Amino acid sequence: MSKKAFVTTPIYYVNDIPHIGHAYTTIIADTMARYYRLKGYETFFLTGTDEHGQKIEEAAKMRNRTPQDYADEISGKFKELWDEFDISYDKFIRTTDKDHKLGVQKAFKTMFDSGDIYKGQYEGHYCVSCETFFTDTQLIDENLCPDCGKETRIVKEDSYFFKLSNYQEKLLKWYEEDETCVLPKGKKNEVISFVKQGLRDLSITRTSFDWGVKLPAEMNDPKHVMYVWLDALLNYITALGYGTNDKNMKFWPSTVQLVGKDILRFHAIYWPAFLMSLGLPMPKHVAAHGWWTRNGEKMSKSKGNVVNPKEVADAYGLENFRYFLLREVPFGQDGDFSQKALIDRINSDLSNELGNLLNRIIGMSGKYSDFNITSKNVEKFHKKELDAVAEHLKIAEKNLNDLQTNRFLEELWKALTIANQTITLYEPWAKMKEGNSDFALATVAVVANILAKVSILLHPVMPKTTNKIAKALGFKISHENYTFLLENGNLLNDFVIEKVPPLFPKIEAELLITPEPSIQSTPKKEENKEVEDEKDSLITIDQFFQTKLKIGTIIEAVEVPKSKKLLKLQVDLGEEKPRQIVAGIKEYYKPEDLINTQICVVANLKPAKIMGLVSEGMLLAAKDSDGLALMRPETNKTSGSSVG
Ligand SMILES: [Zn+2]
Repeated sequence: MSKKAFVTTPIYYVNDIPHIGHAYTTIIADTMARYYRLKGYETFFLTGTDEHGQKIEEAAKMRNRTPQDYADEISGKFKELWDEFDISYDKFIRTTDKDHKLGVQKAFKTMFDSGDIYKGQYEGHYCVSCETFFTDTQLIDENLCPDCGKETRIVKEDSYFFKLSNYQEKLLKWYEEDETCVLPKGKKNEVISFVKQGLRDLSITRTSFDWGVKLPAEMNDPKHVMYVWLDALLNYITALGYGTNDKNMKFWPSTVQLVGKDILRFHAIYWPAFLMSLGLPMPKHVAAHGWWTRNGEKMSKSKGNVVNPKEVADAYGLENFRYFLLREVPFGQDGDFSQKALIDRINSDLSNELGNLLNRIIGMSGKYSDFNITSKNVEKFHKKELDAVAEHLKIAEKNLNDLQTNRFLEELWKALTIANQTITLYEPWAKMKEGNSDFALATVAVVANILAKVSILLHPVMPKTTNKIAKALGFKISHENYTFLLENGNLLNDFVIEKVPPLFPKIEAELLITPEPSIQSTPKKEENKEVEDEKDSLITIDQFFQTKLKIGTIIEAVEVPKSKKLLKLQVDLGEEKPRQIVAGIKEYYKPEDLINTQICVVANLKPAKIMGLVSEGMLLAAKDSDGLALMRPETNKTSGSSVG
């Protein structure tokens, strides 16, 4: 029977559009799924969206839409992004799927029948935003939510309870017996001390709203809908067919369940307790990662500094971005996104150390052996290097299995360093001059072999790039070659090098404006938190007038080559010469339709470089789900007229 792997991301709540945090979780999960496939495991990779709960019901009402319609839109945005990002998921589950709802009802009935669910009354401080009740001692300033800081409400209602208190000892035993069940270790210790403080039974149904999974019909209690966390956590088994067709339940237990650190408690305490109640085996690893900041600051929509993963991937390359995310921070810790750090990684790690190595192999083999490479003398002259590399690659795989993606990549790069140093140390060009071509060709071949082995292990992080490297080196990345070159430690068969263009052109300047509020932010006023944020950032009239807004007339508009979003405009602001403004409006306007129309421009913005083009101002536009509209004067005004 083949080995199996089941990898999950959390299902993402549809109250927010995808940001860098979602992309990070999903890319780690994708990397793990690709790694297991490379090892020949039968793999199932699950992601999806969490769509029930009071928050969604209220957000939809605010927009005069049905919750289903609203959930469809946001869920669609996640799916679209993952498809654009080549995320190799096997199933995209939605908690509004019929099979999911049936599975959740089946699980509820099973837990009820086993005596783990009873009916009672709940009174408590409830945070609508977090969909969580809190005890008096957990609240901040007597009524504020300890997780999000918003005001809680006193809610009293009939409720079904899950006997979480029954599972305290069993959970502690699990943590103790399975060392890596919760990762990283530091986070696991936090979970253990939380459980040791004592677990209270969990209220798992609500009667105060409608938008959720109803209790099973045979319970005869139609007022209740299920607690959104019970509903959501069960997706990890309903996606495999639990309660409906059981088709893929062979993949349970899960191999890796990735979560953000803010939802670890649900996944490391409630989820295993539900599973114990259902008589199912425990997950192998529940792994919590940290959060991302931007240039050292917390990201928020009102600051306009939220990193849009799609924009970064479009500007810098999807696989470069994947490498950066996995390489930049130790798993479990918080990371900082900055364009400078990303550019450094691309220019140094990827261009200098990886891309350049391939170029050197191509160059030397072209000169010395008409691009022919043979591994026949590699063992004889370079056994030491091969052994050292094998050791690094072994450690690399161990780190990846522990989700230590940064250490995994560090070890791969140590192997690349050995390859680069081997060239410097043995100077094949000198050996050729001395007439020792056997040695020189063995040196080129050992370096090619190191690059081949590294490429196979790097494949889950950079699938397309490593396929190009493999093609140049005359082999294919596959499970068979993983076994042949890595597990069994063989060398490449004789092959002919294929020339390829440089894989990682150097990046000279930042490619995105930081931040880009006029085009990026989509105000969503219904969220209390944001309204609060806006209060915090009230400005005076003087501060407002520090921004010089002017009417400009577009006299030229052209597309920026290779950019899906950008147009390059020449805008007359009544100055000596027109300003060049690079704007992300290509998806919404045809260049020819813009000529001789007027726009509103921020005229005293520091010039920025966007895809290598200077932009001397920013235009104002409004964006919603229907698209983008430029802000224009109602009637034509003289170019350069001030706005305010
Ligand atoms: Zn809260």
